[in-house]
Amino acid sequence: MTNDQIPKKMRLGSNEEDCYQRLQQQRRSLPIHPVRGRLIHEVQRHNSVIVIGETGSGKTTQIPQYLYEAGLHRNAVIAVTQPRRVAAITISKRVAQEKKTELGHLVGYCVRFEDVTSDSTKLKYMTDGMLLREAILDPLLKRYSIVILDEAHERTIHTDVLFGVVKAAQRQRAEQGLKQIKIVVMSATMDVDHFSKYFNNAPVLYLEGRQYPIQVYYSVEPQTDYLFASLVTLFQIHKKEPAQKDVLIFLTGQEEIESAVKSIRDIAREVMRAPNIVVCPLYSSLPSFSQLRVFQPTPEGCRKVVVATNIAETSVTIQGIKFVIDSGMVKAKVYNPNSGLDLLKVVRVAKDQALQRTGRAGRESPGICYRLYTENEFETFSNTTVPEIQRCNLASVVLQLMAMHITDVAGFDFMDKPSPEAVKKALEQLELLSAVEKGERYKLTPLGRQMAAFPLDPRLSKVILTAKDFHCLEEILTIVSVLSVDSVLYTPPNKREHAMAVRQKFISSDGDHITFLNIYRAYKSVNGNKQWCNENFIDVRNMKTAQEVRRQLKEICERQELPIQSCGRDTVPIRKCLTAGYFMSAAELQREGEYVTLSTRKVVSIHPSSVLFRCRPGYVLYNELTQTSKCYMRDLCVVDADWLYETAPNYFRNKKPGR
Ligand code: ADP
Ligand code: MG
Repeated sequence: MTNDQIPKKMRLGSNEEDCYQRLQQQRRSLPIHPVRGRLIHEVQRHNSVIVIGETGSGKTTQIPQYLYEAGLHRNAVIAVTQPRRVAAITISKRVAQEKKTELGHLVGYCVRFEDVTSDSTKLKYMTDGMLLREAILDPLLKRYSIVILDEAHERTIHTDVLFGVVKAAQRQRAEQGLKQIKIVVMSATMDVDHFSKYFNNAPVLYLEGRQYPIQVYYSVEPQTDYLFASLVTLFQIHKKEPAQKDVLIFLTGQEEIESAVKSIRDIAREVMRAPNIVVCPLYSSLPSFSQLRVFQPTPEGCRKVVVATNIAETSVTIQGIKFVIDSGMVKAKVYNPNSGLDLLKVVRVAKDQALQRTGRAGRESPGICYRLYTENEFETFSNTTVPEIQRCNLASVVLQLMAMHITDVAGFDFMDKPSPEAVKKALEQLELLSAVEKGERYKLTPLGRQMAAFPLDPRLSKVILTAKDFHCLEEILTIVSVLSVDSVLYTPPNKREHAMAVRQKFISSDGDHITFLNIYRAYKSVNGNKQWCNENFIDVRNMKTAQEVRRQLKEICERQELPIQSCGRDTVPIRKCLTAGYFMSAAELQREGEYVTLSTRKVVSIHPSSVLFRCRPGYVLYNELTQTSKCYMRDLCVVDADWLYETAPNYFRNKKPGR
């Protein structure tokens, strides 16, 4: 965003002035306020400082402001990294309000495919992935005087890599006599000694928390259906407790949350005749205006029910929560070391996550937490979550590190090292994609360098770069964009059949990717007409996002001088490009009618949401595996066995598709 796109700051009317004063009052009443002076002092004295404080104590919103107000930013930018985009967006909006400025001026945010900052931005909330991308172009992070690594306990793969990258930038800047960069690490809980030691024995500042007693109730028996159990619990609360006490339910992902939200609304309206329930979903990919709804005060006489993923554990604080219902589940990436691919799986939370969830009930007054698992089950939970870097596919991170000229990935200064096998597997995968080549040691190929320029999984970057040879970048850009956003299809559970019937006209027997392409083309041909979208059960917002993503990917392609050509109605070139990126995720139909993956011969099924659900093509590629009752392939494309051979003869030498 440029400066002149931002409207001039309006003069505040008396109402707004009141609101501003109220915000300032709230700021002063936060637990962090009394330690303001000490914090500033510590950051002045030390290069790295660690801050630990309960969720809601004001770390994320206040600390960057304090450091700025004290002039510690020295006219450069303070970066505040967040593992999640929702947090980066909502919190920067809040801070802009507190600072009485338009978002994008003094305070801004930057997440993948969305940059709301300008030259005047000094407080920049960003996802850790974005700062990592910037580090590829500028390893010394010269624009920043302070980097605040927030939610450090989450230990996402990007946070962990960023720890090492920022630490290296600090050292190198000192060695080169450049202005120093300060590091502030913040978290609700963490293994303090481990962190402090890693950050050169950084001092630790503890904030006094405010926590009221919470009563914890366990399930008497193990629950087979936590979704159902959460609804039953909610309506029990609703029946016997006064309405102004809000409820927070922890579930695992978008689909599940949307379905719960719908059930709650239906039951409230039709069964309970209780119109006074306001239900708000909260998950990462929720569009920003819906995200902000959860922060709005609950209307008089109503009960707010927030249905959230683990994002509400520590990243964002919602006022008024009195009851927490914890499913005990979380969606996590689980790495399959044989195939080198990640599997998204609903798994048990760790004990520390369960404790954080419980804590959300006692922020403002005593509260109650209902755990939808037994006490015995709780005892079997692991104590802490394993850092993502030790359980995920590293291909993307390894590619980024190599693009930063860090060739010895195994020797990189990680807080907790990934296993050597995982690094090796990632390098092998990148080698299969021709992104790196093996000589004395692995090094980035020119293709690999081009791939690193895209904020995408290396496989998708490879698909884009292959499109040049097949003259179909026009189509590939569309498909990759649609794959990069949340579902562009909207299927209300009670109109499922109707939605399927209406969308029949878009379906391609070549699979989901080509179907997405058809949908996008149709959408463009009606200029994104809203009514058309409603009639066809197309999610307008996600479609708009896809359009924006496409625009940005196209820009990167143009910078790389890739010709944007179309292959017309022929789908073969498109599917060959997809093969070039996803040949490692291929499955073959067996005589018995089931599919097995070619990589590890694992039995898999076609997900019911796929257009191929009722078809039985001989060979398919899939973009994602999800494990629920079965292991499902999602986003499928029909391919020829020959293409697999042609693309990766070495890889398939012993795997023999179709022979
Ligand atoms: P921490 O980072 O320590 O968990 P935050 O700085 O995120 O704490 O939040 C401090 C307080 O600011 C919270 O208790 C909450 O009341 C308020 N707050 C934060 N974000 C918002 C928002 N988007 N809307 C309204 N209030 C908010
Ligand atoms: Mg925070």
